Amino acid sequence: MAGRRYVVFSGRPVALPSSLRDLVGTELFSPQAKARLLAEPFVGSAEAEDESVADFARRRLGPEVLDYGINPFTAGVFAGDPEALSLQHAFPCLHALEQEHGSLLGGGLRRAAGRFAQRLLGRGGDDDDARPRSGPFSLKRGLATLPRALADRLGDRVRYEAEVQALRRTGEGRWRVHLASPGHGADDGSGASPSLDDPTFEALVWSASLPALSALAPELDADTSALEDVSYPPVSTVATGFPRDSIDHALDGFGMLVPEVETGCRTLGTLFSSSVFPHRAPDDRVLLTTYVGGARDPALAEADDETVYEAVYHDLRRALGAHAPPVFRQRVTWPRAIPQYHVGYGRVKDALDRIEANCPGLYLAGNYRAGVSVGDAAASGNAAAQRVAERLG
Ligand SMILES: Cc1cc2nc3c(=O)[nH]c(=O)nc-3n(C[C@H](O)[C@H](O)[C@H](O)COP(=O)(O)OP(=O)(O)OC[C@H]3O[C@@H](n4cnc5c(N)ncnc54)[C@H](O)[C@@H]3O)c2cc1C
Repeated sequence: MAGRRYVVFSGRPVALPSSLRDLVGTELFSPQAKARLLAEPFVGSAEAEDESVADFARRRLGPEVLDYGINPFTAGVFAGDPEALSLQHAFPCLHALEQEHGSLLGGGLRRAAGRFAQRLLGRGGDDDDARPRSGPFSLKRGLATLPRALADRLGDRVRYEAEVQALRRTGEGRWRVHLASPGHGADDGSGASPSLDDPTFEALVWSASLPALSALAPELDADTSALEDVSYPPVSTVATGFPRDSIDHALDGFGMLVPEVETGCRTLGTLFSSSVFPHRAPDDRVLLTTYVGGARDPALAEADDETVYEAVYHDLRRALGAHAPPVFRQRVTWPRAIPQYHVGYGRVKDALDRIEANCPGLYLAGNYRAGVSVGDAAASGNAAAQRVAERLG
């Protein structure tokens, strides 16, 4: 039940098909679009080296699947614009299916058959499939439990509200880090040059944003212009609590995504939080989490609270039949939410590799390296930690 995903179609949530039978019956796509989709294995491979997600979807799957499948999916993962994002870098598994099998449907079926055969033989699958599979994941008191637990283990070695204002390499090959005083931003007048009083480190892992990195460290010994071009559009999340009986929809799924062509709605999508995770709302209430902004509508993420709340209620009324105001609401805004892996992101990755090669002791980790999910960001941190351990012996 929690696995069901809805997509808004003509203002109402319609379940995304999860089987061939569902696909044949779904109202999301016209008969022509379904026939086009089934012909996908016969579409030729791309000529462009680095293709946008939208060009790929139009070419292989047709315009309706782009509008009602790929566009909302891209908003759900990157809060991004499929016309700007690179298929190869943003969705490497789709790119690999085309490269290795010449087709998404054919490649997907072959992989599924391979997994089935491996199970029959009692062995694990190929590399991809060896990764643990799990559904949506959280912790009883929210994901913040994890960094809090890590910080508890580290004790007073953790510095909060400490903005890195400059990095400098010392003559001994260490990294000097200049921090803003707690509670002060970059404009506190304290200057942004490291002084001899600043601490130095043999190894430094950078996990903040790319534009901040290129601005802070003039001596990275590599062309950092590619890093400055990476955009991080803002996203706001709005949590709303309702009495269960004031929402008409069954909320029997993971959530709903809003395609850009659904111009009657302004939000990106809504997670049915209390349906997916236990303990999110009292029994007679529900909790919804709605996302606004992103590359599609950055101005809305930065608008005042009343504008944002009204956009959210409007879409919840229209799509889910919310017929009473929420009894609870809370908004959080990420001014720089998720890095956009745009067409040409290979230049960014090359620049990162060069910086690490030219700057011994400086390691780069985070959601700009090899995937934007929490799991990807954590894996990149683990990989950096291993490189640090090798350096420190
Ligand atoms: C609204 C939203 C919903 C999401 N939902 C999901 C989801 O459901 N599942 C999923 O897998 N992923 C999700 N993601 C993506 C995922 O959460 C992030 O990509 C991932 O957490 C990024 O981790 P990170 O450590 O690389 O970067 P961040 O978590 O962005 O950490 C970077 C840190 O660097 C700090 N910083 C910046 N500049 C400086 C400086 N000069 N000095 C010191 N510190 C600095 C920032 O304050 C920040 O704390 C979501 C992202 C957003 C924004």
